[in-house]
Amino acid sequence: MLEQAQQILKSYYGYSSFRRGQVDIINSILSGSDTLAIMPTGGGKSICYQVPAMVLEGVTIVISPLISLMKDQVDALEGVGIPATFLNSSISASELDERVVAAREGEYKLIYVAPERLEAPSFRSLLRSLSVSMVAVDEAHCISQWGHDFRPSYRNIRTMIRELPVKPITVALTATATPEVSQDICELLGIQEENTFVTGFARENLTFSIVKGENKRDFIGTFLKENRSQSGIIYAATRKEVNELHTFLKRAGFAVGKYHAGMSEEERNEAQDDFLFDRTTVIVATNAFGMGIDKSNVRYVIHHNLPKNMEAYYQEAGRAGRDGEASDCYVLFAPQDIQLQKFLIEQTTLDEEKKLFEYKKLQQMIDYCHTEKCLQRYILEYFGVEEDQLEDCGRCMNCKDQRERVDITTEAMMIFSCIKRMNERFGKTIVAQVLKGSKNKRIQQFGFQKLSTYGLMKQRSEKDIVSLIDFMAAEGYVGLTNGQYPVLYLDQKALPVIKGEVKVYRKEQVKTRKIVKDDGLFELLREVRRDIASRESIPPYLVFSDSTLREMSEVRPTDANAMLEIKGVAGTKLKRFGEDFMAAIRVYIEENGVEPQKVVKEEVIAELPESDEPSHLISFRLFSEGEELSTIAKKRGMSVQTIQNHLIRCISEGESVDWERILPSRFEALIFEKIDEMGAEKLKPLKEALPDEVNYFAIKAAICKKQLLQ
Ligand code: ADP
Repeated sequence: MLEQAQQILKSYYGYSSFRRGQVDIINSILSGSDTLAIMPTGGGKSICYQVPAMVLEGVTIVISPLISLMKDQVDALEGVGIPATFLNSSISASELDERVVAAREGEYKLIYVAPERLEAPSFRSLLRSLSVSMVAVDEAHCISQWGHDFRPSYRNIRTMIRELPVKPITVALTATATPEVSQDICELLGIQEENTFVTGFARENLTFSIVKGENKRDFIGTFLKENRSQSGIIYAATRKEVNELHTFLKRAGFAVGKYHAGMSEEERNEAQDDFLFDRTTVIVATNAFGMGIDKSNVRYVIHHNLPKNMEAYYQEAGRAGRDGEASDCYVLFAPQDIQLQKFLIEQTTLDEEKKLFEYKKLQQMIDYCHTEKCLQRYILEYFGVEEDQLEDCGRCMNCKDQRERVDITTEAMMIFSCIKRMNERFGKTIVAQVLKGSKNKRIQQFGFQKLSTYGLMKQRSEKDIVSLIDFMAAEGYVGLTNGQYPVLYLDQKALPVIKGEVKVYRKEQVKTRKIVKDDGLFELLREVRRDIASRESIPPYLVFSDSTLREMSEVRPTDANAMLEIKGVAGTKLKRFGEDFMAAIRVYIEENGVEPQKVVKEEVIAELPESDEPSHLISFRLFSEGEELSTIAKKRGMSVQTIQNHLIRCISEGESVDWERILPSRFEALIFEKIDEMGAEKLKPLKEALPDEVNYFAIKAAICKKQLLQ
């Protein structure tokens, strides 16, 4: 069956190998197990159920919370030649009837529906008359109260599944991996916890950065100038900020759109389409934008304000670089944004316990902005990826940071002194004006021209002084009160500086970079894509992704065979669009006197097993031969966690193992004791009750050993 899956991947999608993690998930599904797949946005979840849907007999029902996403997914499936449809409130009654008839006749391999539809008796009776082989629950965190988008109607899924005459395979997919959420999903959908696959959380093409204490608009302006032709999303916290930033960027001459819930539906649709069709390159939006957006060539995501938590952040940032091409993600941090997020938490109707939970998550988001360790690593740790699978990414701002540190203690003292002399009762603008020595009327009114700090920084611009104050606030030397007009005060951290015990350093500004290097043929192919897209009225990225065009521009295929070797090119699309691209490439070759290149085979990330030996036994054999878990994982293109699951499965099937390597004897009695005390249903409390050196793997192994001993 796996070989069949591989063939489908190649012949429909044009990809020659599954990504790391996809194999494990597909393997699990095709062996008939209910499965939970946790992958970040852009990790490649859709293929995990779409390919098995094609392998299995009958139809797959996909539960998806967003109407716009359904249409996108169905368009993409039809684009590669897979019969699919969606049933939701956006289609007319007669259209719905037609689709129901076609479904009864077995014309679709996948049917997308919103969870609310499960409440309709007519729909449930339709389902009972179909041969449903699989139910895929997309955005499965919506089933959990701990998730960020709880949808009560998700709770009907299990009842619906139970009503079906033949039990289908249940597959849940989400990007949210906190233990509370994944345990909830398993429990509510009846998935065994060991069939959970957390994978692909490291997004190897994304570069994360934090910009602190700098002028946000200056930064965005410089960045956009350098990346003018690339698509990007800028998230801002409020409608007002979206409007203001949009006006600013429009005036600066960028092709920019905006999106927020205060606009009419028509305006929003138009803005979204302009962005999808590459008519605008940048979109400034609140977090209302993006849930239904699958655009694969988003090259950057900038958060103009602090997001509310890491889940929201990783989901939004993950919209960059779905096509696997290098992309950038920035958070522009300013401490005022913390107040806004706190205010928003207070405005909710959550009970006190849940509010505290939200505050904790906000704090972890703030910590992300201040950490000096690898940013990708911080994210992975947050999502519960285990220590032994963590490596520094080598790309993010903290990994690459070579900026000079400049001693700004003198400037800091001037600012602190001025804030103090103004009795900690004024905001940053007026403090900066005093330091600048401004002749402003308000300053005269308050008599600030008489202060000893008046004009102390007159050689600097006012904007520069404000930026220094922002930096002091971002680093916690200076605090800001809540409210509409935040007032500056000195924080504890400033005291040792005032006493002359510590110095204040500031790094040089974060340098923006040009994400994509210019390439004549690539640009030409993008134009061909734009023409096809407007001819066919589909978004350009549905024609071919940026990564496909990039490979074409490197390989320069001029015939169908060479074209089929390009990742992302397969039968249906080759027939529809291939000739347009080949014609452009031929002209380019002719005009530039270059040759088609030899096809460079991409590195195969995850090969399917060549032998008939079951996958878990292969891992077990390698382990028994003395290989380390991480080496086996690398060799097999799987995650360490998967290899661990393989070993646990072998142990529970009675294979004998060198226990010392899995469950050190010095911990065994203690773990057994805790299992007796607390039960073995939930791993997290056990982990918390045990010393840090005991990892989840040892706990799982101990549970298994204890059962074997009974
Ligand atoms: P998610 O739903 O997890 O956010 P998608 O399913 O939209 O991610 O996949 C992201 C992108 O990665 C899509 O453009 C998809 O076609 C591509 N992709 C997925 N699997 C593979 C693969 N095995 N090889 C190459 N590209 C892939």
